[in-house]
Amino acid sequence: MVRTAVLALGSNMGDRMATLQGAVDALVGPGAAPGLRAAAVSPVYETAPVGGPEQGPYLNAVLVADCTLAPHELLARTQEVEKRFHRVREVRWGPRTLDVDIIALGDELSGDPDLTLPHPRAHERAFVLRPWADADPGAVLPGRGPVADLLAAVADQGADRRDDLERVRPGRGA
Ligand code: ADP
Ligand code: MG
Repeated sequence: MVRTAVLALGSNMGDRMATLQGAVDALVGPGAAPGLRAAAVSPVYETAPVGGPEQGPYLNAVLVADCTLAPHELLARTQEVEKRFHRVREVRWGPRTLDVDIIALGDELSGDPDLTLPHPRAHERAFVLRPWADADPGAVLPGRGPVADLLAAVADQGADRRDDLERVRPGRGA
């Protein structure tokens, strides 16, 4: 069974662009483990951190992929990639080299705290919805509705599309 996986990537430490590209390479580039294939990668957005301690701005992007993995397999995959980038998590909601959140996997619904699907806060986060709408203008967040409609409610949240930065490429090998 092939389903659409929507992954939200964020980085606010170190070389943020290199981290986003490296994460996409690790997930769907040549040599990546089977089960995930890039369908689209969004432009990069820059956003102010939400909550937590004083910290620098994030670069965010959304990867839309064709996925044959089970939910827990996908979580293991994304967590392994986070580890590979030496994710630092000293403070809750503090700065991190890489955060990968699973926004949705097809229309899978799960209340498991280890993997809640769809992601319980995706509908209220401009840094997820804006890049997702760019990558897939017809996207629908299961249980919440069209992403294009959800965007209206987060219009007050800053998220600047950084067209001056290089795009994250879906296919480049590591
Ligand atoms: P956040 O992304 O909210 O800042 P973390 O990345 O530290 O926080 O994730 C905390 C926990 O959230 C992880 O241990 C993971 O098991 C759990 N989790 C629950 N649902 C999801 C999801 N949809 N995507 C990613 N992680 C999730
Ligand atoms: Mg996370």
